[in-house]
Amino acid sequence: MSANTYREKHELNAPAKIPPATLSRLAKLGIHHRTDLLLHLPLRYEDETHLAPISTAQPGQTVQVQGIVAHSEVIFRPRRTLVCRLQDNGGELYLRFLNFYPSQQKQLAEGKQVRAVGEVRMGYYGLEMVHPKCRTVDDDTPLQQSLTPIYPTTAGLSQMVLRKLIANALETLPLADTLPEILLQRLNLAGFADSIKLLHNPTPDIAAISLGDRTNAAWRRIKFDELLAQQLSMRAHHRERGKRLAPILAPHRQFTAPLIKALPFALTKAQQRSFAEISRDLAQPHPMQRLLLGDVGSGKTIVAALAALQAIENGYQAALMSPTEILAEQHYLKLRDWLEPLGITPVWLSGSLKKKEKQLAAEKIASGETLLAIGTHALFQGSIEFYKLGLAIVDEQHKFGVQQRLALRNKGKYSNSISPAKSDSNEPHQLMMSATPIPRTLAMSYYADLDVSVIDELPPGRTPVVTKLVSDERRDEVIDRVRAACMEGQQAYWVCPLIDESEILQLQTALETYQLLMKTFPELRVGLVHGKLDNAEKARVMAAFKANELQLLVATTVIEVGVDVPNASMMVIDHAERMGLAQLHQLRGRVGRGAAHSLCILLYQQPLSELARARLKIIFESTDGFAIAQQDLQLRGPGELLGARQSGVAMLRFADIGTDEDLLNHARQAADELLRDFHEAAQAHLHRWMANKHDYLHA
Ligand code: ADP
Ligand code: MG
Repeated sequence: MSANTYREKHELNAPAKIPPATLSRLAKLGIHHRTDLLLHLPLRYEDETHLAPISTAQPGQTVQVQGIVAHSEVIFRPRRTLVCRLQDNGGELYLRFLNFYPSQQKQLAEGKQVRAVGEVRMGYYGLEMVHPKCRTVDDDTPLQQSLTPIYPTTAGLSQMVLRKLIANALETLPLADTLPEILLQRLNLAGFADSIKLLHNPTPDIAAISLGDRTNAAWRRIKFDELLAQQLSMRAHHRERGKRLAPILAPHRQFTAPLIKALPFALTKAQQRSFAEISRDLAQPHPMQRLLLGDVGSGKTIVAALAALQAIENGYQAALMSPTEILAEQHYLKLRDWLEPLGITPVWLSGSLKKKEKQLAAEKIASGETLLAIGTHALFQGSIEFYKLGLAIVDEQHKFGVQQRLALRNKGKYSNSISPAKSDSNEPHQLMMSATPIPRTLAMSYYADLDVSVIDELPPGRTPVVTKLVSDERRDEVIDRVRAACMEGQQAYWVCPLIDESEILQLQTALETYQLLMKTFPELRVGLVHGKLDNAEKARVMAAFKANELQLLVATTVIEVGVDVPNASMMVIDHAERMGLAQLHQLRGRVGRGAAHSLCILLYQQPLSELARARLKIIFESTDGFAIAQQDLQLRGPGELLGARQSGVAMLRFADIGTDEDLLNHARQAADELLRDFHEAAQAHLHRWMANKHDYLHA
């Protein structure tokens, strides 16, 4: 059956007519076809399979009780409320309704026998349920045979309607297994049909706990299926990339070898290995999409420079894009120092350049006069045309959105008719760099369509940063410590408190902190850098700090990414309890870059929330970015870690890569096996899970 006929047969609206309003609400839930209904699984269940005696009901429990309405009245204070006292043989509780219809009032009149399901809590008069689900019953009204599923829904779409649609889909649609029997047996997985039926209508003997925490066999099967679909689609994407063309950038080594020789340090093993991987990819006729992962300070920049040189050795251009001006400029200065002796002069392009300068830079890029362009996202704005872009490098790639990354890819497509390269290639290679260490599971899951190189080793000679947690009450001691360090010739950062709600407040806090610290340290040269400073000023301050003209730099989190001043060996993070783990780790990575012993003081204000306490404990105990990221994953979930909102990565609905690592490993292997030996099964599986979800793919 082709995808199209399949789709027609399973149109949401056939065979039953569904009103357009309902269709659009279903669409909001991601339900576009009847098969999607099958995979719309309950969030939780209510147990209406037995009755709890009221006397046994405990606050906090959700139970079903049955009794006679002994009293029913509408009270008006503090708000119009219907209150009923429900009695059974051994106890009584109150049912309260803030919004109610006359029909409900009738249903709950004195003397009626009522069944109510809801969460019990301790109210003013005693035990109560607020807005329980109620119905009148006879003595012989049967109990439910299975747990009642509660589905994710949206305004205007009732559980009843969803339940009916889903029940109908379960009865009428084929539930054939997409996976070959041999795989199910080997991995000890339950069948699809059984699993899906059980999850929609679990019998009461299924332990509610295993459903709740999704550990039973049916949930395992569904989570496996979801992970497998994700792996399959990413592989498909990966293979599709293998069909696209990119310029062959072979390693000629006339620039890379002399640079390596001229460096004041030797590359670490991890840097060598990463560059070798990149070098090999660049020599292929298909676009590289490689992620270079390395903790802060691991030395990604030199690897990027070598990659750029390999492109240049082939007469192609390279571009390096950074998320902030500070970072872009720093890269520019560093690469200029490295490359000028080789006769290569990079050009700098950022939004802050004057119009004339920008035009000049743009001309050099368009004419091919410059082979290396460094800058912010201004590099990839509409007006910039590359002569012959062979490699696009994106630093701190998670700071960029999908749109920007797409724009970058398209820059290499030589739509420019003056480009001579139009015919021989059509897409630049891409190198993405990230210092957000991503836990292995996350990388495997969400970056399965990328190739990944990891710099898992810091350059030698670094002494680990010592981290201290200090309560705000001891601020004076911290101040003495900073003074002493700076008087000895060290340099320090003072990171201002983060104020989420408002940029203006943020700026104000930075200015106040700066004023205060100027007064506190009359003997020190103090500077200030923040996001609202104009770029020339920002650059001037950073240069002064780098040149050791400033001893103390008061900074907002603009220094979070990439700033590299090796002589700075001390950092105070004010109100550290307000910062996230990744941010704290990044900030701390700004010190410990030289040989001096470094210190990072996390000043916190009591009382600490539980989450803040957990974060500070982790950052105190570990300096390993990957370990921190793993913990972060547990605290925050993958969405935030990946910056999912902007990266466009669709999240998993059922599986949790924090806890389902074993399933993820199986799914990876199974994806290989299906693509190799069971092509039709792979297609069917992708179709069941992904028919409407093209956004599962990366841009
Ligand atoms: P990041 O990975 O955070 O971008 P950088 O590329 O900025 O790290 O490197 C951090 C510092 O380490 C820089 O000053 C850089 O010159 C230096 N560095 C890089 N590689 C080595 C090495 N193999 N040995 C010694 N120092 C190195
Ligand atoms: Mg960097």
